[in-house]
Amino acid sequence: MKIKFYGTRGSIPVCDRDYLEFGGNTTSIKITRDDGRISILDAGTGIRNLGNDLIKEGFDQHELFIGFTHFHWDHIQGFPFFAPAYNPNLVINILAMGKDRNIDNLQGIFEGQMKPEYFPVPLEGMGATFNYLKTDRDSWKRNDAKLKVIKQNHPGDSYGYRLEDNDKTVVICTDIEHGDTINPEIVEFCKGADLLVHEAQYTSKELESHRGWGHSSYEQAIEVAERAGVKKLAITHHDPEHNDLFLAKIEKKCQKRFPNCVLAREKMEIKF
Ligand SMILES: [Zn+2]
Ligand SMILES: [Zn+2]
Repeated sequence: MKIKFYGTRGSIPVCDRDYLEFGGNTTSIKITRDDGRISILDAGTGIRNLGNDLIKEGFDQHELFIGFTHFHWDHIQGFPFFAPAYNPNLVINILAMGKDRNIDNLQGIFEGQMKPEYFPVPLEGMGATFNYLKTDRDSWKRNDAKLKVIKQNHPGDSYGYRLEDNDKTVVICTDIEHGDTINPEIVEFCKGADLLVHEAQYTSKELESHRGWGHSSYEQAIEVAERAGVKKLAITHHDPEHNDLFLAKIEKKCQKRFPNCVLAREKMEIKF
């Protein structure tokens, strides 16, 4: 399996000169399974480049799943710029899995941000066929692949995803606030993953003044990785105020404590 980061930034895109290494787009992750099938998690501004790359690579799937952790701006804003969604031969399944999903109208979320007040092209004018899959199920199995989700503490809720395929496991936990101690259910959810993608928007000191904003510190991301015994940790959802210099220093500190750890960079690909 491999994953590729298109967008590593939390909250809002940034395009300043000292943000080029780690990148300025907001969250979208391309997941490629061993059989070559591609899925996507979240549709932040990075999904524009993701879609353009798919087209360049000759993407010819008839059906594409796009899962969503939640629907804050930084996770849906790129969707109207996802070029494959303008292909009338493509079926796009928009997936929101998990119990107690705090949404009444999944289709309305995507239609809403493309209303004429906000965007020139309506959702139904894009061209692809959209299916809206909202399910209370916490797990789902298809052939060799097993997908599980867990509800995370975040304003308006968010969901972590765990994908097991061909004896390889990736867990993606973004937009999660643990509180004073690490949530043991999240540790359990991440157990034994080959790759854990965990957000960290703040340093421990910054977290003190951002309680209730829905995010984690670097130290917390590492603690989850250590306690869950994961093989590799990739930290993402960088704060828009953290430039390349700052993040490079943080990465060195993180690697001292958890050597197999990286801070995600735009278009970084991890195979496992
Ligand atoms: Zn976010
Ligand atoms: Zn969020």
